[in-house]
Amino acid sequence: MRMADRMSRLGTETAFEVLARARKLEAEGREIVHLEIGEPDFDTPKHVVAAAQKALADGWTHYGPAAGLPQLREAIAARVSASRGIAVTPDQVVVQPGGKPTMFYAMLALLNPGDEVVYPNPGFPIYESVTNFLGAVRKPVRFVEEKGKIRWDLNHFKSQLSDRTRLVITNSPHNPTGSVLTGDDQIELAAMLRDRDLVVLADEIYCDILYEGRHVSIASLPGMREKTIILDGFSKSYAMTGWRLGYGVMPQALAESITRLGINCHSCVSSFSQVAAVQALNGPQDDVRKMVAEFRARRDLIVAGLNKLPGVTCCMPQGAFYVFPNITGTGMGSKPLADALLQDAGVACLSGTSFGAFGEGYLRFSYANSQEKIKKALANMEKFLADGRAKRIA
Ligand code: PLP
Repeated sequence: MRMADRMSRLGTETAFEVLARARKLEAEGREIVHLEIGEPDFDTPKHVVAAAQKALADGWTHYGPAAGLPQLREAIAARVSASRGIAVTPDQVVVQPGGKPTMFYAMLALLNPGDEVVYPNPGFPIYESVTNFLGAVRKPVRFVEEKGKIRWDLNHFKSQLSDRTRLVITNSPHNPTGSVLTGDDQIELAAMLRDRDLVVLADEIYCDILYEGRHVSIASLPGMREKTIILDGFSKSYAMTGWRLGYGVMPQALAESITRLGINCHSCVSSFSQVAAVQALNGPQDDVRKMVAEFRARRDLIVAGLNKLPGVTCCMPQGAFYVFPNITGTGMGSKPLADALLQDAGVACLSGTSFGAFGEGYLRFSYANSQEKIKKALANMEKFLADGRAKRIA
């Protein structure tokens, strides 16, 4: 079958490929610890599941409005207004089947070939993939390790901006490093962006999984609201990855374009899921708090354990559920080490380069797995690295 030329420019997410390889090894009888996939290992809160069951029984099984059910758009507007300290109205909210469609549709709506996109690298691979797909120009910005923390390199960021920059993508808390843009970082970014004719896509999907400080959205800073799209959703905060529910908050004119793209593609998001999502936002938040507390304990466990491994150093992440250890001291490259850990140590993780070229020298572990499994993975890796097998393979 002959594909359109543009298909050769579309990338993918390596996590799913590594998961498939790990599953194959398991089918052959191997025991694998899964630290590759970026989804909470918790159940969706019971009251949200019950609300979906009731909605199905009540007949919420038909098409709904393309931009989302009014009651959900209202609940999202209220939540985002309160959490970001801005006044959001329901007509600025577009409900989507997941967090990703806001990214894809926004880029489709805004980018012409040749427009420049500034984005984090390492970063969520879809930013780079869709930039290439649309014939836009990649302007990746790297991270630096500073005083035990990984931080976005704001000097590099500045040097990547130009008069051709059309879109800036930020992501805090960040996948894959777990780093956070502080309030001061956001102020610095806003000062660089405020007077430019560009749009900011603030990917805030991990905003509820934060271990220190308060989430600051760039949209809440003077002059930024009218040029910012906030991307958020239910996948991470409420352990609802399989529900496919997310949203974008944006200026109304863009909301109309993005809704039109939705009409051309998915029509609307499943109605009973949206009815349940209102309960996720307006119901008790205890499950979210419990999940974050458990993630914090696991973060502390895995960071301490990684720092004891020969050739590995690991900064303390401030959010999300990922760690991004520096593995240059092992003498191995990221991809060969990730492959060897899967094959020889039974630990599935991702190479830093799965998130872009600047991820070389790092691995990403998702700690969305039990403390017991994390301890097992650490023990297996310790044995593998101490054996010197790593050096022999290198
Ligand atoms: N943005 C980032 C940074 C992510 O890591 C993810 C998922 O891993 C998404 C967006 C997409 O979330 P969803 O599964 O809701 O489409």
